[in-house]
Amino acid sequence: MDNKRIIIAIDGHSSCGKSTFAKLIAARLGYIFIDTGAMYRAVTLYALEHGAITSGIVDDEAVAVMLGDIHIDFRFNPERGASDIYVNGDLVEGKIRTIEVSNCVSAVSSIAAVREKLVAMQQEMGRKRGVVMDGRDIGTVVFPEAELKIYMTADPMVRAERRYKELTEKGDRVTLEEIYENVVSRDKADTTRKISPLRKADDAIVLDNSHMTLEEQMEWFSEQYRRVING
Ligand code: C5P
Repeated sequence: MDNKRIIIAIDGHSSCGKSTFAKLIAARLGYIFIDTGAMYRAVTLYALEHGAITSGIVDDEAVAVMLGDIHIDFRFNPERGASDIYVNGDLVEGKIRTIEVSNCVSAVSSIAAVREKLVAMQQEMGRKRGVVMDGRDIGTVVFPEAELKIYMTADPMVRAERRYKELTEKGDRVTLEEIYENVVSRDKADTTRKISPLRKADDAIVLDNSHMTLEEQMEWFSEQYRRVING
């Protein structure tokens, strides 16, 4: 065992299994896992429920004003072995992954005030190190000094099929076509937005998991981790 606690930044496209991968890494290393996408989703859910989004159109100013009323926190749930997200004390974990939230989250996450607030929270959560954080701008903006940066991607249809399976197993009535469209349009919105667009940090290593099992991904990770720790 080593005592060197590092920051592991995992960025990449939507629905390529970043959270599953990150959660497993955190459990193995005894690190804290932070799903930053859940934070952007929680703000989006709040905006939807409080009238700042109408017919899919996001009122940026209304969302910015609302930010002061939104208190986000994570609480460890031993049953899941991961943390659940709460907004103003309400558990919202089960409500943030619907297609409705997915369709609006890229617009909400492109609002400067939203990013400022959430990035500051994320930096505070990683202050003591020993964290695995997944998102879109972790290696580029939140922790540019992270010791290990991974950029994950996978073929868009493979990603859509995975998300489709996940949602239909939960009982959501969605079509593969609408999920595919959401994956492609989020890729586009996330990579082309003005503030903190999704891009690979120069020192990130790419993991394309289109044809890899989770076990294979973990083997790959162990090699990268050893390299950083011993290097
Ligand atoms: O990771 P997930 O797909 O749940 O993220 C939802 C959305 O939140 C992304 O499509 C992106 O628009 C936004 N996001 C972001 N920056 C992050 C994490 C997520 O802009 N660090």
